[in-house]
Amino acid sequence: MMELTILGGAGEQSRSSYLLRQEDQYLLLDCGMDIAEETGNSPDRLRHIMSRLQAVFLSHAHEDHSIGLPLLERYGYTGEVWTTRATVRQLPVCLKALEEHQYAIADGGTVSPPAEQETIGNIRFRYLEDIAPRGEWTWVHPNMEVCWGRAGHLPGSIWVAVSWYGKMILYTGDYSAESRLLEADRPLHHSRILSRAYPAPGKIPDLDLAIVDAAYGVDTDRQGNKLSQLNRYMKETLKQGGAILLPVPVYGRGQELMLWASEQFADIPILVESDLLDALKLFAAEPHWLRADGTARIEQLLRHPRIYRMHDDPSREELFLRYPRSILFTDDGMMQSVKAQQHYTRIAAGRENRVIFTGDLAYGSFGRSLLMDMERRGCQIHHVRYKVHQGLPDVRQMLLDLKSPRTLLVHATRPRTDGLALRLQQEGFQQVHALQPEDQLYF
Ligand SMILES: [Zn+2]
Ligand SMILES: [Zn+2]
Repeated sequence: MMELTILGGAGEQSRSSYLLRQEDQYLLLDCGMDIAEETGNSPDRLRHIMSRLQAVFLSHAHEDHSIGLPLLERYGYTGEVWTTRATVRQLPVCLKALEEHQYAIADGGTVSPPAEQETIGNIRFRYLEDIAPRGEWTWVHPNMEVCWGRAGHLPGSIWVAVSWYGKMILYTGDYSAESRLLEADRPLHHSRILSRAYPAPGKIPDLDLAIVDAAYGVDTDRQGNKLSQLNRYMKETLKQGGAILLPVPVYGRGQELMLWASEQFADIPILVESDLLDALKLFAAEPHWLRADGTARIEQLLRHPRIYRMHDDPSREELFLRYPRSILFTDDGMMQSVKAQQHYTRIAAGRENRVIFTGDLAYGSFGRSLLMDMERRGCQIHHVRYKVHQGLPDVRQMLLDLKSPRTLLVHATRPRTDGLALRLQQEGFQQVHALQPEDQLYF
């Protein structure tokens, strides 16, 4: 029996880390675990298994999947972290969140601030694209065979299928087939009987377990519905002469929404934080992760006559005064930063303006409190999700594509995955699990 322990990600949406064990050997899928040494179970568990950890896979750079990488280094992990070049390039920016997190704990007096030099500099990253093209099976360890594909979530984001000790496991990472900019490779089932002894290229044989991004639970909307709603809100605002503030993360949906907005509202000034434009250039440098027209669209946006870069307080102030009817992008999806909150102060002063959130808002975040608290509204506040994960129709299709394997639904709160598991069971899917951190699953 193989054992899966949830270090983060099942029954919650803010972390992702799955530890597999076969006898005394381990395999780790993503590093988004609870990193607090005093309170978290994960550091304790990991400290003792480093010499028996055969491999680590990192699906993409977002901090909810990568925040525990420095723990591996601290505990002396000398094995390989398998990922992609684009992911490693994005890690420094994504791991900034780690410093903030640790210092916040330090303020509470439980942990001393990390030494300046605590980094991921000694981690041995290996690039999957160097050893096998996407969709092709390859050996990464004497007893471990792997196949990977693009996950459509970020440049460099992947799903991995791993064959290990006779078990076949698929981990989707954060997956979306509905990105308008990024390409995704659908993981597809292929019977072993039809193929030769080894799995055929691009195909996944019978799975023993699929760990599947189900962040949107039973939400049935397609990307097109979400974008029509967003378009409606933005049109209304612009008609009234107002400005729209879109808080987005540095890497991810922000770049997609910038492209979309510049194409939908070609005459409207678009005011963008400098880091978001720099990240867009990084996207352009990774054309193999993009859809066929991706590079051309990005180049067009970078040449757009009405794109304005905000790089400091005076430029933010000045551009907002000059263009009261505009679309603003700030690089902080939950508006935790002072910079994002200053944007809000300017926007909130005009009733014709709107803030539109497009991602999940964590409990306790500034964004969530704005959305929930009617009193604070000077302007209108909305939430229209831009899909970068999977909802009901996406998960259903994925399970059909994989011939309904045993499935663990992840990356959403427990009520959300419970609801989706129930719905899928009602539709006839068997062995659909919803768990939570520290739970174990044997298969
Ligand atoms: Zn992500
Ligand atoms: Zn994630």
